[in-house]
Amino acid sequence: MELKLPPPPPTAAEPGEDAARGFRAGSEDRVTPMMAQYLEIKAGHPDGLLFYRMGDFYELFFQDAEIASRALGIVLTKRGKHLDRDIPMCGVPVERAEEYLHRLIALGHRVAVCEQLEDPAEARRRGGKSVVRRDVVRLVTPGTLTEDSLLDARRNNYLAAVARARSSSAEAESRFAIAFLDISTGEFRVTECGRESLAAEIARLEPGEILVSDALYEDAELASLWRSLAAVTPLTRDVFDGASAERRLAAYFAVSTTQAFGTFSRLELTAAAACVTYLDRTQRAGKPLLSPPARESSGATLLIDAATRANLELARTLSGERRGSLLSAIDRTVTAAGSRLLAQRLAAPLTAPAAIGERLDSVATLVAAAAARSDLLARLKAAPDLARSLARLVVGRGGPRDLAAVRDGLTAAAELAGACRALDPCPAEIAAAADALQQPDPAIAADLAAALADELPASRRDGGFVRAGYRAALDETRALRDESRRVLAVLQARYAEDTGIRTLKIRHNHVLGYFIEASAQHGEKLLAAPFKGKFIHRQTLAGQIRFTTTELGDLESRIASAADRALALELEIFDQLTQNVVAAGAAIQAAAQALAVIDVVAGLARLAVEQDYVRPEILTDLEFVIEGGRHPVVEQALVRDGGPFVANDCDLSPPPDAGAGAGRIWLVTGPNMAGKSTFLRQNALIAVLAQMGSFVPARRARIGIIDRLFSRVGAADDLARGRSTFMVEMVETAAILNQASPRSLVILDEIGRGTATFDGLSIAWATIEHLHEENRCRALFATHFHELTGLAAKLPRLFNATVRVKEWHGEVVFLHEVMPGAADRSYGIQVAKLAGLPSAVIERAKLVLAELEAQDRISPARKLVDDLPLFASARRAGAATPAPRASAAETLLAEIAALDPDELSPRAALEALYALKRTAAKRE
Ligand code: ADP
Ligand code: MG
Repeated sequence: MELKLPPPPPTAAEPGEDAARGFRAGSEDRVTPMMAQYLEIKAGHPDGLLFYRMGDFYELFFQDAEIASRALGIVLTKRGKHLDRDIPMCGVPVERAEEYLHRLIALGHRVAVCEQLEDPAEARRRGGKSVVRRDVVRLVTPGTLTEDSLLDARRNNYLAAVARARSSSAEAESRFAIAFLDISTGEFRVTECGRESLAAEIARLEPGEILVSDALYEDAELASLWRSLAAVTPLTRDVFDGASAERRLAAYFAVSTTQAFGTFSRLELTAAAACVTYLDRTQRAGKPLLSPPARESSGATLLIDAATRANLELARTLSGERRGSLLSAIDRTVTAAGSRLLAQRLAAPLTAPAAIGERLDSVATLVAAAAARSDLLARLKAAPDLARSLARLVVGRGGPRDLAAVRDGLTAAAELAGACRALDPCPAEIAAAADALQQPDPAIAADLAAALADELPASRRDGGFVRAGYRAALDETRALRDESRRVLAVLQARYAEDTGIRTLKIRHNHVLGYFIEASAQHGEKLLAAPFKGKFIHRQTLAGQIRFTTTELGDLESRIASAADRALALELEIFDQLTQNVVAAGAAIQAAAQALAVIDVVAGLARLAVEQDYVRPEILTDLEFVIEGGRHPVVEQALVRDGGPFVANDCDLSPPPDAGAGAGRIWLVTGPNMAGKSTFLRQNALIAVLAQMGSFVPARRARIGIIDRLFSRVGAADDLARGRSTFMVEMVETAAILNQASPRSLVILDEIGRGTATFDGLSIAWATIEHLHEENRCRALFATHFHELTGLAAKLPRLFNATVRVKEWHGEVVFLHEVMPGAADRSYGIQVAKLAGLPSAVIERAKLVLAELEAQDRISPARKLVDDLPLFASARRAGAATPAPRASAAETLLAEIAALDPDELSPRAALEALYALKRTAAKRE
């Protein structure tokens, strides 16, 4: 039997309009319909690059094309003319659009994505000149990304909005509300804070994008903050309108009032509404699924400002890498969501002992239950990034693999719930997570499992993702597509049988399509009854007669469109499955969050076991006792290199005899490289770990809740922002002295190092006195000025500690042991020798040192401790006797010298000028 095969039906979609054709105007000054459409859409999006969809490409025109071709390194061409000028153009293929978007976003561009909203065939049906309907479906901004390739799996990408309420009275500070959400996971929270903690809160969140009102953006006081942040988007006043905020927020969640979500201040509502209004504007194709906003009460988290975060290398090292940070040292999670939650918890340790205790209970349970812990971790490994897949499905950017992620995530969730319940005792946090894990209807996962094929394409447009046997109509259509040869053969055999013409054939050509062919002799038979009605004559040739039947006609059109229909059916199934998932979105989100919780707890438990950490005791007083503390990052690095880490004790609790209500300050001296910085940081890190709900690297830890953590290092380089290192050091120290409370923990490492010895010594001196007398906080102060150790005699809560070194044959040996007492000298020359300074330099330095020390014996700096009045009395004296009057010229000179013209806004400059004028007038 011979059968000529038809060419495969076209599977690719109809090509879109051709750019060259679309923009080539008939006469040079006429605007083509497509150009008119482009210009209209572009006019609505003046400040973003417009990705204009044309078939398989996003095209950019005019200036957008010039910018993009430069930024992306793609070819700039010309297409058609507009107002007699060539139109510059470049394009990116749709399937590679994510990659290009990524680069443009990283460079700070915003992109408006304009899609074709109908099939080009439909447009053609409307008439030859009709343009395909198009509109912008999405504005791609740094804070509204959902694509895996544009996001870091292990970090949240927050969109934040900052709203300000100016205080009515002049003295009172303005209040701020920060609303923040992650559309890739649905988290949505809002918090209020004062001016002093605004920067710290933003540093905690590290938003991908911050929304502010135009007025706030222009505010002179905040300008430097906005400038220091990556992506700040100023918006018109209506977005931050307080009067309509509640309504806009309620509308987004389709509720009549937001009261069910909790009580919010008007300021919080304003910030939250700004976020959702921005989503309405940028996410036109689909509204992201958000949890209702949750209120974070201020004071619930340990405040850590940006400089402290950087110094302590919490989430990344000073050079910006995750590796080497505390986060990376403690991360034993196995899912991306777990990793994100761990980062969140580390960024915002708690301050309520009960809440910390609850987290520690979970970790303790899994520390004790080794088998359960590894079982949980093994099951978690099978759980994909449920939250982000869900988010993409909700906004219509999902693919078959996202459905599979939901299937696998929900399956893992159900299994994990069982494993959690089996824990005895089951701590509250884990029990709550288990409840959430069981929330989604098991039918969703079962249906997805039945529907999805084993191998899945990246895009739903590729088709082939629905499992055979799931939908009969699809199976049939696919059979037609794939088995057209067999179906035709069956039909041909049947016709041969029915007619008794054994040589009857079904053939295909481009003119007739499919047809039935019989020899002239046999064909005559088909022209007569009983076949006449069924076989329709098409063509008579010399030796053959050709026919068709309605059956064959149907089959033909079914074959021709089978591929299209199979795809359409699959897309229909995709939409149904997606709808089911989206309808259960809130439950799935909760399950995703619960998976993350279990992952964090199991990961922290594994860390504790692996690294021998203990459960910290969290107290409400001002205790701070660490026994055998270790630095979590340095320890792991040392152990990898085979060295031991020397554990050290620290006690900053209020001394019994010096009154409660004020912590102790340890003044840590010792030569360079002794381990001072390591010791300081390890105690801060232990406090952070304890309050985030982790076990800690120590033999024992008793920590009275800390409200704010400060850490500064002398002479840190901040050349990027163009400030002198010493200036930075002083600005940061000033912030601490102004803000630290008795509940705070302050770590000061070599403050005063960045200037001349006497300046530095004096500043360090006064700083210690201020911490002791005014801030009364727990503090660690490392210094190479051993003169300062004399202060312990006067300040009852100052305690001297030193890192021991041994001198052996004229060389220093570092023991890394912290002991009570003071370093007698700094061993700087010995360390220099270790570092390989030429011996001539070493010898000369020894001579100079001997001479300096001889002079110091005559008038030792240490004697100052006895000679100077106490800090408090000095202050009082200072207040009573006015400072000697400087001459008018001197004062003016000092004021002018203090001005930095580069840092002044025009308005501030004018104000400065007035101030100078006033000074001059006063002193005349
Ligand atoms: P300092 O601040 O006194 O100059 P560092 O804290 O920078 O000293 O420590 C110098 C080096 O000594 C560190 O890089 C670390 O490798 C090592 N070190 C510090 N403390 C310890 C310790 N407790 N046990 C083992 N090695 C340590
Ligand atoms: Mg140091």
